[in-house]
Amino acid sequence: MIPVTKSFLPPLYEYMAQVKRAYDNEWLTNRGELVLELEQKLTDYLGLEDSKILITNNGTIPLQIALKLLGNGGEIITTPFSYIATTATIVWESCTPVFVDIHPEYLTIDETKIEAAITPNTTCILATHVFGNPCNIEAIQAIADKHNLKVIYDAAHCFGVKYNGKSIFEYGDVSTCSFHATKLFHTGEGGALFCKDPELFHKLFYSHNFGHNGPSDFHGVGINGKISELQAAMGLSVLPHMDEILEKRKSIIDLYNKTIDFSNFSTMKVRERTEWNYSYYPVMFDSEETLLKVLADFNENDIFPRRYFYPSLNTLNYVQSTELLVAESISLRVLCLPLYHSLNHSIAINITQLIN
Ligand SMILES: *Cc1c(COP(=O)(O)O)cnc(C)c1O
Repeated sequence: MIPVTKSFLPPLYEYMAQVKRAYDNEWLTNRGELVLELEQKLTDYLGLEDSKILITNNGTIPLQIALKLLGNGGEIITTPFSYIATTATIVWESCTPVFVDIHPEYLTIDETKIEAAITPNTTCILATHVFGNPCNIEAIQAIADKHNLKVIYDAAHCFGVKYNGKSIFEYGDVSTCSFHATKLFHTGEGGALFCKDPELFHKLFYSHNFGHNGPSDFHGVGINGKISELQAAMGLSVLPHMDEILEKRKSIIDLYNKTIDFSNFSTMKVRERTEWNYSYYPVMFDSEETLLKVLADFNENDIFPRRYFYPSLNTLNYVQSTELLVAESISLRVLCLPLYHSLNHSIAINITQLIN
């Protein structure tokens, strides 16, 4: 069976050596040695200059914490083309999602349509760098500055992405990442938030640990967003393999780009000035009918691409939205092809033959 993705598993002895450190320390959570070391190693690997990193138990809780602090129960301008966590978080935090359509080639929120969606109740823009492809960061920041809004980026797909030569996590008031097992870099379950402003970082930090200010004093309300030493052990043993993982994925994407006949399909356009991370390979068909036909063919050959992102989030039964033509159309026509470090080239060629 060829799935859409496979988790990278480091050699077991490397993982066990990290786990053994937690055993030796007799320390399993509450920001132990392994978590602190992983934060330092990620800061170096990502080349963080202005932002600080806080690693968390998944990639959803940092969105919730950011919205709790910045959303103020207001309207959040957001994208319909993302994983459901982006919208669910807004509703979970008692804010109202206001959907803006997406750009047909970059697949990120269409920045030219944001201003029309702003009302006196708008507090934040929460946009996703889709498949590691940056939003129009400059335009979004200019709109946010003009209207006094906060910007939160769901950068769950963006591990290792650079924009303008800088880590993409350095942009926005808060940026988040997911270290879920299906993501490029992972800790099994895990995630992170990134923030430049020391005062806001302080609030985000105590919020992820029940609000604690020492054992019996509290800065404010909080939740449990802590990652454990056991998860950090996985991260510490995956991280040294990132260059190898990226190289293998790049070679498959090069093959897809060379071999797929783009007279009948399109793929995402990566934004200018981006060092991309080869995280996903979306293919857009001319119609949902074609997609379903191709998908059936794939499945018959034991290959399981994924309809991702589908459905368009503005059509969820717990939100209100007007029709968004681009996002709804693309959601019906997009398939992510199998892409992972151990996918061999003969299978990748098979995939392109089937699709062509
Ligand atoms: C994976 C993902 C999340 C959620 O991350 P978890 O670590 O699974 O909580 C949020 N947003 C996007 C776009 C994702 O792909």
